[in-house]
Amino acid sequence: MKINKNLYSLENPNSFYTATSKIREYKEKHPSNKVLSLGIGDVSFPIAKYVKKKMIEAVKREASKEYVGYGNYYGLYELRKAIRDNEYQDFDIEEIYVSDGTKTDSGSILEMFDKDVSIAIPDPTYPIYINSCLSLSKNYELIDSDDSFVPLIPNKHYDVIYLCSPNNPSGLSYTYEQLERWVKYAIKEKAIIIYDNVYNCFISNGIKSIYEIKDAKRCAIELRSFSKTASFTGIRCSYYVIPNELEKDINKYWRYRTISRFNGASYIAQVGALASFNHKAKKEINKNIQVYKDNALYLLNEFKKLGYEVIGGVDAPYLWIKIKNGLSSWELFDLFLNKLEVVIVPGIIFGNKGDKYFRVSSLGKTKDIKEAMGRIRRYEESL
Ligand code: PLP
Repeated sequence: MKINKNLYSLENPNSFYTATSKIREYKEKHPSNKVLSLGIGDVSFPIAKYVKKKMIEAVKREASKEYVGYGNYYGLYELRKAIRDNEYQDFDIEEIYVSDGTKTDSGSILEMFDKDVSIAIPDPTYPIYINSCLSLSKNYELIDSDDSFVPLIPNKHYDVIYLCSPNNPSGLSYTYEQLERWVKYAIKEKAIIIYDNVYNCFISNGIKSIYEIKDAKRCAIELRSFSKTASFTGIRCSYYVIPNELEKDINKYWRYRTISRFNGASYIAQVGALASFNHKAKKEINKNIQVYKDNALYLLNEFKKLGYEVIGGVDAPYLWIKIKNGLSSWELFDLFLNKLEVVIVPGIIFGNKGDKYFRVSSLGKTKDIKEAMGRIRRYEESL
């Protein structure tokens, strides 16, 4: 059969799948032990009360004579307007698309490009960009980062560049100057930046959107999600911006593409997403994000006190930590799981350049994070 052979290369021992299997096996062997996770990229607060109320109303509507049905190809107009009014005042509603998750969007946006485009992906990276290129048979190359994990401008041409800020896994939020260099490169090379910005809500003082950089409207597509802001990881709703300046008639053609390939995000999820812009909901959501940010600061200080070199954790929920004892990242993962019953993410999952690092997340419950950190501290002190 003419199966896409690239699918075979998605089977990768250095993946979240391996980590999850190891954790499951350990838990099955030790059912009464408490395994704590510093690994999770999932959030731990429930959705805001006002969002819940509006979603219940939407369910009732769907179950009544007012039945609504499909949630519109590009998203409900009211939601796209709220996104524009709250976050993208310089854009037309027509440049904003609502979808069912940035994991999907970061891959499906590749449908915009010719089959032979060259794609640059920083190493280390959120692995989904690589997996999307593999599944869709797109040519990609990994590009180097500097010592502090900021991707270096390549000295060759690429058509498409994935950038992620605040970054998963490094936890860095790129500065104006760093992003400006990329925008200049993209304009010079007539390239397009796919800017994964799902963690923008964690930025206190930095650059929240690539469109803050001069000329970025001419070269960047920005992807955002309600997952980490409004606790929508299970509800699923995202959005992205395709500026009209990118290419003549681009939105006209992307609308054809979207009508042909997508039936819209869930109506109920979109009603919830719209409610998340309400001032009461925003207050609750911002409070939750502050807790995650405080968790990150706590982790940053604690790991530093133990003598670790730590990157990130200030404007992102992730900390990227250098392994001290010469172990590989899987060896450290096994040691922490088996000895401390604490889960971290081995850096190699994000690429070979990550093998001397591990990632921890601040998105869990504060109590669990403190307990996990206590276990690590006691272990380090016993050495
Ligand atoms: N992009 C990055 C960089 C992520 O880390 C994640 C989730 O962990 C996603 C996208 C997925 O976002 P969504 O839940 O909207 O699919």
